[in-house]
Amino acid sequence: MEDCLFCKIANGEIGSDIVYENEKVIAFKDISPKAPVHILVIPKKHISSIMEIGRLNSEELSELMKAISNIAIQFELLTDGFRVVTNTGEGAGQTVDHLHFHILGKRQFGWPPG
Ligand code: 5GP
Ligand code: ZN
Repeated sequence: MEDCLFCKIANGEIGSDIVYENEKVIAFKDISPKAPVHILVIPKKHISSIMEIGRLNSEELSELMKAISNIAIQFELLTDGFRVVTNTGEGAGQTVDHLHFHILGKRQFGWPPG
């Protein structure tokens, strides 16, 4: 989508610290990390949130989920645990309308989340 920040990151128009990429998915470090490890995983295809997940085909969907577990391995998050978050809607804190999963690790997490 033309004016979408994460589409621009996905197509290289805007620079980012990319940690994982394949044909369907890209992952990069969050510019304002909320944990020592804070990665954003997105489908390259623009969808606005998890509410449009039906617009991804099965390959796009499985690559997205596999990326999360691969990145957890890549950043050695398994021993201490990690958190995967997708904020959906303004009330939940979604600020970029392109589906993204936050992967947060290397610190202690509270439950329930704030
Ligand atoms: P949300 O608030 O929608 O759940 O998450 C959006 C995330 O994108 C935030 O954690 C924010 O720090 C991150 N972010 C915003 N702009 C940029 C950017 O230009 N580059 C990167 N790498 N992350 C960004
Ligand atoms: Zn987009």
